Amino acid sequence: MRRVSIFGATGSIGQNTIDLISRAPDDYDVVALTGAGNIAQLAADARRLRADIAVTAHEHLLEELRTALNGSGVKAAAGTAALTEAAARPADWVMSAIVGAAGLAPGLAALEQGATLALANKESLVCAGRLMLETARRHEARLLPVDSEHSAVFQALTGEDMNAVERVIITASGGAFRDWDIDDLPHATPDEASSHPNWDMGQRITIDSASMFNKAMELIETREYFGVSPDQIEVLIHPESLIHAMVGFRDGALMAHVGPPDMRHAIGYALHWPERRALPVERLDLAAIGQLSFRAPCDTRWPALRLAREVMQTGGLAGAVFNAAKETALDGFIAGKIGFTGMAEVVEEVLNLVTAQPGHIDATMTLDNVAATDHLARREAWSVINRRAGQ
Ligand code: NAD
Ligand code: MG
Repeated sequence: MRRVSIFGATGSIGQNTIDLISRAPDDYDVVALTGAGNIAQLAADARRLRADIAVTAHEHLLEELRTALNGSGVKAAAGTAALTEAAARPADWVMSAIVGAAGLAPGLAALEQGATLALANKESLVCAGRLMLETARRHEARLLPVDSEHSAVFQALTGEDMNAVERVIITASGGAFRDWDIDDLPHATPDEASSHPNWDMGQRITIDSASMFNKAMELIETREYFGVSPDQIEVLIHPESLIHAMVGFRDGALMAHVGPPDMRHAIGYALHWPERRALPVERLDLAAIGQLSFRAPCDTRWPALRLAREVMQTGGLAGAVFNAAKETALDGFIAGKIGFTGMAEVVEEVLNLVTAQPGHIDATMTLDNVAATDHLARREAWSVINRRAGQ
């Protein structure tokens, strides 16, 4: 039996992970499941999978969780310290699927206890890529990508020599506003930004797909995870979302990973790696699909891509500023305080503000310094957002 924990179990990735694990209950011993506000889901899954412990991120929901778990034998805990403690519980495989920088500390704790960390939480690589990789190395823990593009690159690189890699191409569907008139973007609403043409995901990453901040984060994730230089990474608009990534080699070959837009493939690949086991995903009928299309991304429509390249050039803790400013700008957009195109403007302004203050971007990459820089960037972002909202 493999001991597994799922962080962010109640979310879209978490539920897809539970779907796979539930199909072979005798293979897995569930250690910890975590969530935030959806106590009913967390408790139901913890009971059904007989987890040792269920943790909610919200301290004020501890009693509600205890009541929901009454008589089940599953322990209840709450708060951010409890999340990190749960990640330190011995497990063989840990899914990191919390959304946002809140996933960083539990991810590091899981690596420190030597678990294989299946990483959906791209924010931790954007904020603190080097720290994540060094922690994995120091504790002989393995970090496996779950983001579909990065799983695709990882698979295309199997058995290959990194020195033969010329470029990495990650695809993007273009999100909800791919075909909108550019002049309409400032008036786009959170509801309109929350529907994705191909993927069924959490609300935050869906809006990030419309703004291309998701792909911007994935550019940084690609650089951190695979160690390729920024100018070797390309973004390609591919509306069908069937090719997830391609790796170009020095002999001109392109290895493409093709599959249905179903995260259970990338999750299952990380769950069974290094084996390939049968997964319940659609088998593509390419003759019925007929054709695949591609186009270059437009920097005017999606300034997030340019910002990510600037962040990679700046280095240091610029990724932590970028992520925190992006998360706050997204909160501001969802709250109706700024418009859709205001998000990139806020992020750019915060990057400039924090970069100009000495002692942040160039601080050593420790968890404490990343947290301090993250807090500063969030504070600056709220003041920019409130100023723009006239408050
Ligand atoms: P989601 O919103 O559906 O779920 C997020 C999970 O995190 C939930 O379990 C929620 O309870 C928990 N959570 C939220 N705030 C928290 C906090 N402050 N502290 C602790 N837990 C908290 O999100 P999702 O779509 O499943 O995405 C999860 C992660 O996976 C994100 O980093 C996302 O970028 C990444 N990802 C998602 C997909 C996808 O298809 N959904 C694809 C690739 C990568
Ligand atoms: Mg992705």
